[in-house]
Amino acid sequence: MLELTGVSSGYGAVPVLHGVDLTITAGEVVTVLGANGAGKTTLARTISGLLPVKEGSIRLDGTDLTRKPLHRRAGRGVILVPEGRRLFGGLTVAQNIELGRIAAKGRQQDADAVGHLLDAFPKVRTLWDRQAGLLSGGEQQMVALARAAAGRPRVLLLDEPSLGLSPLLVDEVFAMVTFMARETGSAVLLIEQIVDGALAVADRGVVMAHGQIVAAGTASELSASPAVRQAYLGGA
Ligand code: ATP
Repeated sequence: MLELTGVSSGYGAVPVLHGVDLTITAGEVVTVLGANGAGKTTLARTISGLLPVKEGSIRLDGTDLTRKPLHRRAGRGVILVPEGRRLFGGLTVAQNIELGRIAAKGRQQDADAVGHLLDAFPKVRTLWDRQAGLLSGGEQQMVALARAAAGRPRVLLLDEPSLGLSPLLVDEVFAMVTFMARETGSAVLLIEQIVDGALAVADRGVVMAHGQIVAAGTASELSASPAVRQAYLGGA
């Protein structure tokens, strides 16, 4: 279980997150909603270790990660798929996936297991020998997700994975999110602008504004919540 307690962070002297409390258990999808600038990306970066924690703590299965650098958190299976596509463009899809698998070597991921995992990514299989940098934006996004999955994440941090995708691929992304939580037991943090789609696959959700969590509940509670509407229509 991932557990944030009173987490504050920011960029240099600029504070962004203020006292965020959040837990995500294995096999659970928690969506993070909120207007532009609310602090969602900053939250994902702070959990991954890209940004240092100023106050509070981050624990994974009881182990304190608060001061652990990014690579140590990645080694424990905390994997961020950032907004935009970050593939090795000169390598093939297969090579990119292999790099994801290598990242998981401490967590007993063998090539067969990756093959099994990729059954959930039919689109990626069709692109296997292609050069990653020449794929369409949507195709690259799918490969980035498959690479993260090959890293056998304990905690998968997805920052707007549907951004720029066609409706068909958006459906595939959401199906993959469900697969990662239910079949591989990852704890998934899903940052999304497609609110209805995110709430449809999430178990729970939180709404952020001004770097704080201003509403939290089950997906169905949030679907009916005025706070969700306000967060989007009323500005951050
Ligand atoms: P969006 O939905 O637009 O991606 P977000 O909820 O992910 O928004 P963040 O990217 O976390 O929001 O930004 C939160 C705040 O932090 C904003 O006020 C933003 O201007 C600020 N911020 C983001 N990145 C930096 C940076 N590198 N340096 C300084 N301030 C930053």
